[in-house]
Amino acid sequence: MRDSKAFLKQEYERLVNENLDWHLKVLEGPSTPRCTIDGRDVIMLCSNNYLNLSNHPKIKQAAIDAIKSHGAGSGSVRAIAGNMDIHEVLEAHLARLKDVEAALVYQTGFAANAGLVPQLVGAGDIIISDELNHGSIIDGVRLSKADKGVYAHNDMADLERVLNDADKDFKRILIITDGVFSMDGDIAPLDKIVKLAEEFGAMTYVDDAHGEGVIGDGGRGIVSHFGLEGRVDVEMGTFSKAFGVVGGYVSGTQDLKNFALNKSRTWLLSGSHPPAVAAACNAAISVLEDEPQHHKTLWENIRYFKAQLESMGFDCGHSDTAITPVIVGESKNAKALSDAIIADGVFALPILFPMVAKDKARIRTMMNAGHTREDLDTALEVLERNGKKLGLI
Ligand SMILES: *Cc1c(COP(=O)(O)O)cnc(C)c1O
Repeated sequence: MRDSKAFLKQEYERLVNENLDWHLKVLEGPSTPRCTIDGRDVIMLCSNNYLNLSNHPKIKQAAIDAIKSHGAGSGSVRAIAGNMDIHEVLEAHLARLKDVEAALVYQTGFAANAGLVPQLVGAGDIIISDELNHGSIIDGVRLSKADKGVYAHNDMADLERVLNDADKDFKRILIITDGVFSMDGDIAPLDKIVKLAEEFGAMTYVDDAHGEGVIGDGGRGIVSHFGLEGRVDVEMGTFSKAFGVVGGYVSGTQDLKNFALNKSRTWLLSGSHPPAVAAACNAAISVLEDEPQHHKTLWENIRYFKAQLESMGFDCGHSDTAITPVIVGESKNAKALSDAIIADGVFALPILFPMVAKDKARIRTMMNAGHTREDLDTALEVLERNGKKLGLI
């Protein structure tokens, strides 16, 4: 007799045996720079809440007010009956922040990539990706009927080679890259990518999930960082990281918005944000515009923390953002260091092969504008003491 269900348990057990299963930690209370996880007070070094906005009073109040005025849910997908004035206000505000004609908000960043990427190119076209692009881009690419090309990470000579190969064989070319890469915290050379795209008549798409709120003028993201306003076709981002809420978006021309909302299946076939979410995202943009201190403090923390780690002898790779890897070599070193610091009240997780190369296992740390100097000094002391104890520095 056929057994179509045994795999559920078998596959799970395989993951457990190979130590590849996720052990979920429970955050008891809000996500704050010092928080409670599994009953213990810890310094949070692995949230994406870079600007510490997830508990900002104005953003919380906007969510409460929107529930009172508009209810708990939107009642529909936006294309039918779930398009509220709150959603329209958010998109207009985002377009002003980005200095573009139009923006379209999706339920999540993943939904934006998985929904839009496959529509931009089809049979007879090619998508060219950086080899380290995020999984949501990879899934979007998989859903497309276009051919696929890959270039070595941030390697512009290799991108040019792939473009030259593609030049005569394909109609449309789409170049897609993360703006900030999540394992190393390095920034894509978007100025050079745009230049090559212009030479070859290609379209450009940048996923700025980790750059939003961190790089660019006052945290306006990667297009602002490179001064490329008007020259990047799709700037995609998320409200789930520095903005402290949830939601994805794309920004660019009105033509892009018209196309994206009529073609993205994730947008057309999935309920819209509850009023509280849309209002909180809108308030988060206002905070970014009106309170530059969060961005300023974030950068003071980033510079201090990186410099101290390096002076202790840790290898921090070549990060230019709020993500600082502490590279310790083999997987077992990264696991041991993570276990030791968590036991000492510092919460940062190991990133292991196959997420990164076998000899580049690491602990990934992320700065928050809400960390005090005392928080950082405590975390640094714990990292240094355990790094020495384990013979890593
Ligand atoms: C987090 C992330 C996403 C997904 O964004 P969500 O809004 O959380 O779904 C997409 N791309 C990159 C590069 C990310 O880091």
